Amino acid sequence: MKVYLDHNSTTPLLKPVRESIIANTEYFGNPSSLHTEGAKAKRKIEEARSEFAKSLNKDPNSFIFTSSATESNNSVLKGVWLNSINTKGQAPHIITSTIEHPSIMNTCKYLEEKGAKVTYIPVDNQGFVDTDELRKAITPKTALISIMYANNETGTIQPMKEIIKISNDKGIPLHTDAVQSFMKIDMITDGIDFITVGGHKLGAPKGIGALFYNPDKIHIIDPLLHGGHQENDLRASTENMIYICAFAEAVKALGSELDTYRDRTRKLTFKLKSGIEKSFDSVIFNGSDRIEDRLPNTLNFAFEGIEGQELMLELDSVGIAVSTGSACSSANSESSYVLRAMGKKDYEAYSSIRFSTGYQTTEKEIDYVLKQLEYIITELRSRKI
Ligand code: PLP
Repeated sequence: MKVYLDHNSTTPLLKPVRESIIANTEYFGNPSSLHTEGAKAKRKIEEARSEFAKSLNKDPNSFIFTSSATESNNSVLKGVWLNSINTKGQAPHIITSTIEHPSIMNTCKYLEEKGAKVTYIPVDNQGFVDTDELRKAITPKTALISIMYANNETGTIQPMKEIIKISNDKGIPLHTDAVQSFMKIDMITDGIDFITVGGHKLGAPKGIGALFYNPDKIHIIDPLLHGGHQENDLRASTENMIYICAFAEAVKALGSELDTYRDRTRKLTFKLKSGIEKSFDSVIFNGSDRIEDRLPNTLNFAFEGIEGQELMLELDSVGIAVSTGSACSSANSESSYVLRAMGKKDYEAYSSIRFSTGYQTTEKEIDYVLKQLEYIITELRSRKI
């Protein structure tokens, strides 16, 4: 049996998405061309834009399509840095957290080398950002707060209402990396100025993302790409019409079944969680205790005395795909910085595994995973005695 429980890393294409990709190859015109072929492609993009905008209840003119969530995150952080250098002649102060995805972390580190001051707000042992520390970190030079909506490794959902209040009260633009929460939970978006989302976590292809923006705040960002006038002059480059339409198709398909999908996912994730807790005594759950503050599809467990990577490979050998951390860093041998930031010991972080269910996960698959886990963990633990 093959069981894919790594949906936070990527997802298979949804059927309507695959169909849309094939159908749209017919529209080959350059959307900037004034002739009929160009106009047809342009119309496709605008239809997709309207469909997509509905997903966050935003105006179709308040976002740009990008090549990925990584590009959206880079556009905000580097855009703020460039704008600050260009308009004020000084590098900005940026506030973020210690558990962000590498596309935020490594961009912040790069900007620090270029003179930016970055404050990394700590999290507690369940992965919640310390909002008192956030409040204290704001200075007159703070140009941006960037806090992820939900964490990719633990599924912990940040106290976004409070974060929005803090940034709005102080008049500091707020960005959130919502890659893992988009279409999985009902997000609060009012009061957030920039929102990063990506296609391949929800059944669209890799290589397509978007950035929602508050039109009143877009002036604080200088574009990364200069060239043609695409995307309201905010991102030059001939639009990837086929993938833009595929992304909108995924959002439409999931949107029409969102409640069913969430209920099912939550039930299956709960079944897996209680099964693991019932079968093994030496397991530590990494993440929020409160179900409402966790993504419905994400579980992260430390299996004491077992290396996460070893367990991941054993599970792979029986057809089960899970992960030891962020897809971008799971090829590294370092333990998860997210778990370490939550106060986990190095050995606990090393023994952790992430399970992330998806729209096609079934109850039978969860039964199979629980059975295999029991066998593999007993075997791995007996080897260590
Ligand atoms: N942000 C978060 C929270 C993610 O989980 C990911 C992907 O794992 C990204 C950003 C980057 O997405 P991509 O690699 O598609 O650019």
